[in-house]
Amino acid sequence: MEATTFVLFGATGDLAKRKIYPALYNLFLDHKLSKSFTIIGLGRREWSDEAFQAQVEQSLHTFSRRSADDSASIKAFIKAFRYSVMDVERIEDYHKLLQVVEQREQELHLPGNRMFYLSVGPEFFGKIAASIQESGLGSAKGWKRLIIEKPFGHDLKSAQELNQELGKAFKEEEIFRIDHYLGKPMVQKLDVLEQSNPALQDIWTNQYIANVQITASETVGVEERAGYYDHVGAIRDMFQNHMLQLLMTLGKNDGRISKRQVMESVEPLLKENVVNDVVRGQYTAGSIQGKPAAGYKDEPGIDPCSTNDTFVAVRLRIDDVFWRDIPIYIRTGKRMKEKSTRIVIEFKQPFKRSYSAQERTAPNLLIFEISPNEGVTLQINHKDLPNKGVTSTIPVDLHFNQSGEPEAYENLIYDALQGDPTFFAHWDEVELAWKWVQPILEAFEEDLVPLHHYPAGTYGPDASDLLLAEDGNHWWFDSKPVPLAQRIPREAYA
Ligand code: NAP
Repeated sequence: MEATTFVLFGATGDLAKRKIYPALYNLFLDHKLSKSFTIIGLGRREWSDEAFQAQVEQSLHTFSRRSADDSASIKAFIKAFRYSVMDVERIEDYHKLLQVVEQREQELHLPGNRMFYLSVGPEFFGKIAASIQESGLGSAKGWKRLIIEKPFGHDLKSAQELNQELGKAFKEEEIFRIDHYLGKPMVQKLDVLEQSNPALQDIWTNQYIANVQITASETVGVEERAGYYDHVGAIRDMFQNHMLQLLMTLGKNDGRISKRQVMESVEPLLKENVVNDVVRGQYTAGSIQGKPAAGYKDEPGIDPCSTNDTFVAVRLRIDDVFWRDIPIYIRTGKRMKEKSTRIVIEFKQPFKRSYSAQERTAPNLLIFEISPNEGVTLQINHKDLPNKGVTSTIPVDLHFNQSGEPEAYENLIYDALQGDPTFFAHWDEVELAWKWVQPILEAFEEDLVPLHHYPAGTYGPDASDLLLAEDGNHWWFDSKPVPLAQRIPREAYA
């Protein structure tokens, strides 16, 4: 790892204490940081270096995956931290910061590599990038890089504007857009699983796959983010970024196809057809794990007349040689029955002829569990001898021991420090994702898609089950197949 100055905007904020400091600490324990490494934290709060270091230490005790009880390690780690008061809107503060950075570089004989991490609100991203350029902070002898948090724009136009602003100060290869789903260990293992296992590679095509289901369900509601979330919804907060990035990662086949090519091949949606392939949902009062949960419109800070989406389910298709004609279903929502992110690949049934009840087989399923547990399961049919020899399913389970594994932010910060862009959201992917989602945003805004309600603590609205039932499918593991006779048009549920 090269010697680097790590400049952290938003050092007094929530993300820094919950994710960034614990990630840096664990990298330090794993000897993945250079010995000459310095971190300059920034915020408007008038903190001294010592007060800042104490806050960082406290965050490690609370949030680090590994114990922060070894005082020698903590002491060695903490001494790399300095704090500088800064208002990101004042250019003179950048000049002051430049002096602090240069002084540290001289003290530690650093080569002038500078990592700028923007852990602040997105309204500041453009301004900070421009001021880094204007103040000379971006003109060091070594490399410069920018790590940027989500959200990257609010729609296609704002994302393009933001990218143009960043582009004036940083080249694309210097920009590392964090999508923390790409840092999750199981997601990082997906392409090697595909690429290094011919048995998997060969069945990774529309010849064998019947459909794909990607789910990211949360049990939490809007928490402290009501004001933000009510203008964003599940479609912007989760679908445009995390869910489409998962799709792009999954769609890559044996490394020959880039994430961009996958996104380019997703069949476009027309605004007037959004209603056919997208279900919009919002939770009402219910109960989660036995505890009563308020409806979305009764949450503090939410407009009581809000039509915001807290759930979306989407059906799409990828038009390339591997994926053509495979329906891909993606859903994500808040206040659902369980917290889980998983990908289920359902394989085609081998025979068309019908079986007796005793011999009937279920489709093979390949399940990638991404969080909170991590693993791969293959569901196969077997003869259940103790149970009259009926054919039934059995899971072949591979669950990884997660105890020693780095967390998403460790993987991502390490990669950015190495200059490895693999697990970041690149501009062409982000732009394509916004282009694809834009008709959905417009259809929601113009109320062309009914808002379906679902009680908190369920798997989303019935319309989400009916979306799959239209193709003769159902969501695995939570809903029952909907018999033909009961298939009511989704509009009837609005
Ligand atoms: P936060 O707790 O509200 O922290 C915001 C930070 O920005 C504080 O350190 C604040 O410092 C600083 N700040 C605000 N205005 C400033 C100004 N004018 N000049 C200098 N510093 C200023 O927010 P957060 O939750 O850490 O989120 C930071 C970013 O990460 C956001 O873009 C968010 O969308 C993204 N994100 C957060 C999470 C999460 O779990 N928290 C997850 C994913 C993405 P002072 O108050 O000291 O000025």
